[in-house]
Amino acid sequence: MVISPILLLMLTTQVNAHEGEHSDHKMTLGGFYENAAIKVDKELVSCTLSMGTKALCYRITVDVGANTDVDAGPWCPQNINDDSGQSGIWLEGGKVYDVDGKFIKNLATFYKDDQWQLFNPKTGKVRVTDSKQACLAAARPDVDPKYHNYCVQCLPSYVEKNTTLTYLIPAKPHLLKKPQKVSPDSGVGVAFNGVKIESSAPVDAILGAHTIAPFDDCGGHVNTHVGYHYHAITGCTEKAAQEHVEGDHDHDKLSQEVAIGYAMDGFKLYTHHNLDSTEAQNLDSCGGHFTKDAGYHYHVNEPGKNQILTCFNAEPGCVVEGDETSCTANRRPPPQDCKEGDASCIPGKRPLPPECENVDDVKACLDSHRPPGKK
Ligand SMILES: [Zn+2]
Ligand SMILES: [Zn+2]
Repeated sequence: MVISPILLLMLTTQVNAHEGEHSDHKMTLGGFYENAAIKVDKELVSCTLSMGTKALCYRITVDVGANTDVDAGPWCPQNINDDSGQSGIWLEGGKVYDVDGKFIKNLATFYKDDQWQLFNPKTGKVRVTDSKQACLAAARPDVDPKYHNYCVQCLPSYVEKNTTLTYLIPAKPHLLKKPQKVSPDSGVGVAFNGVKIESSAPVDAILGAHTIAPFDDCGGHVNTHVGYHYHAITGCTEKAAQEHVEGDHDHDKLSQEVAIGYAMDGFKLYTHHNLDSTEAQNLDSCGGHFTKDAGYHYHVNEPGKNQILTCFNAEPGCVVEGDETSCTANRRPPPQDCKEGDASCIPGKRPLPPECENVDDVKACLDSHRPPGKK
């Protein structure tokens, strides 16, 4: 869909209204990301956005291993008798399901495929990945056959110490003529609690190996590259936002809408439902709209969709390594060694970049992350 000239005008007006208010804007941003594991640069940094536009960006660095504010888990039930309090959720066909013991027991019926057998029929014990090694082998794109028919979970403790994610988010959104689909490698944004808001989980690859990689009740799970991250917004992040709203941001309070973080393109992300349980009205194809008090912003999709945001109306920033300030630079994987010969290891002992972790065609994904001219 092409943005209508009127919306474009509204967006432009909104964005321009904020020009020259960067210091104020920045204060707001710093106020949101209040957590010892999150560092927001005091100054805006010169950056290159994902399509090459030079801009000024907020730089937000999150030490994902040290983000103890986040209460993650549980994911897999241990036994088919476990109830929903001992496990997380699964998203299917637009709906949210509890991955309780009953769900695990019923998988063959649920997916009409009798190859599902995630538990020991004698003891009822669920086959759960129980080590970092198992988590890596079961979560890689071509699931290690040893871990077919497993409930896959990676624990926060598997994330290496000092694993940081650095976000470059344009301080002033750079509008696109045409919305851009949120791709698996771009990510959606970053929540105010420092948790990465991810693109859709690759459920086809997961289910293809007869595995389930549940999300906790907050819509998140862990991989070793980005730590705990969301694939659905279920309401856990609202509390933090609300506490903030009650404070010094009267505008947000008046609107009954709850902001939860920033999208990669610099617009704010709001919950699907407002505080009064109503849904936002007149949303465009990206789930965005313009309100007098909050300006242009997105409302995230319902959790069952496995797609938090559909598209960006402005050029996305990105996650970079170290002090890199360009989103178009060669995207290097995190600097940690992996075992040569592992499918998730690039020769030269680098693990796959997170965006290529769970794709069908790893080679094509890697190629698409090389800068032009280096193919
Ligand atoms: Zn994930
Ligand atoms: Zn709204």
